Amino acid sequence: MTAPVIPIMKPWLGPEEAAAATEAIESGWIAQGPAVRRFEEEFAATVGVEHAVAVSSATAGLHLALVVAGVGAGDDVVVPSLSFIATANAPRYVGAIPVFADVDPHTQNLTAATIEAVLTPRARAVILVHQAGMPADIDEIHALCDPRGIAVIEDAAGALGARYRGTPCGALGLLGCLSFHPRKIVTTGEGGAVTTDDAALAASVRRLRHHGIVSGDGVDIPTPGLNYRLPDVLCALGIPQLERLESLLRARERVAGWYAERLEHLVGTPGPDDGDRHGWQAYVVTLDRRDEALAGLRAQGIEAQIGTYALHRLAAYRDRGSFPGADAAFERALALPFAATTTEDEVDRVVDALRPYL
Ligand SMILES: *Cc1c(COP(=O)(O)O)cnc(C)c1O
Repeated sequence: MTAPVIPIMKPWLGPEEAAAATEAIESGWIAQGPAVRRFEEEFAATVGVEHAVAVSSATAGLHLALVVAGVGAGDDVVVPSLSFIATANAPRYVGAIPVFADVDPHTQNLTAATIEAVLTPRARAVILVHQAGMPADIDEIHALCDPRGIAVIEDAAGALGARYRGTPCGALGLLGCLSFHPRKIVTTGEGGAVTTDDAALAASVRRLRHHGIVSGDGVDIPTPGLNYRLPDVLCALGIPQLERLESLLRARERVAGWYAERLEHLVGTPGPDDGDRHGWQAYVVTLDRRDEALAGLRAQGIEAQIGTYALHRLAAYRDRGSFPGADAAFERALALPFAATTTEDEVDRVVDALRPYL
């Protein structure tokens, strides 16, 4: 008998989510209805910002964030060379050029020094990723960018609940973009939100997600927009998800603790800086024999994965410089099965399967 598959991730959806979705369906507000506003209000309160605008994905959010930040054709946008590809694709949607910067191989995040190394006079924005929920060192990045008029936009897609010195990720830049894809902390199937303290920016995002239509003004449309709306039924699903955020984070912290107890002297294990809270979007260890370990775990039905992409090694973004920090992190990073529902027995099985490669 073969052991059951251990999935890389598993969303936590319960009867509360089913009831909320059913209620939205029965209300008849299947597209844009009262759940959208309620979800946005609760989301803004959770992230500690004035405004949150629900959108169809974090990728859509990044696109709109760049538009409203005034980034356009001919501008440079600094992005990490280690991230999900959406981070680098977003500047292309506004005709800007993604300029890769290296990451610290330990935190896997951008630093002020790696950003400064690639700054050009055309740099208009930085898209800062909190890799796998690990808060980036934002203070030194603001100290570099603010005096130069470079907007800091957070790609906090996987960092809901993470905190930098007490402040939630998503509230650390001019605008933040978060994701509700099932691989993240809180899920609505697909979905995202743009966060900001700036009322005018929030109003612009709201208008652009809805074809450019100004609410309450049916006569004219000042600028063309898109359809990046998140349906009412999915926002309804997100409300109980948000309400269980703290218990989801605690559960993930417990699983991270089980892994750390067993692995911390054997492989590189992740953890937040002092005073920060990790969001634990994924549990990514680093080890030399990564490729062998990945194949070995998969052969035993354990759905491990690479950490994330080294973007400069993808065909889409080749020949854009050399990034030794991102290379080192990419080659050694292994994401282990990780969910709020992961059991200690599953952690034991994963660690046993990993042992031959340590
Ligand atoms: C998941 C992810 C995205 C994309 O989120 P979607 O909601 O699927 O568009 C973007 N950036 C990072 C860092 C991510 O982890």
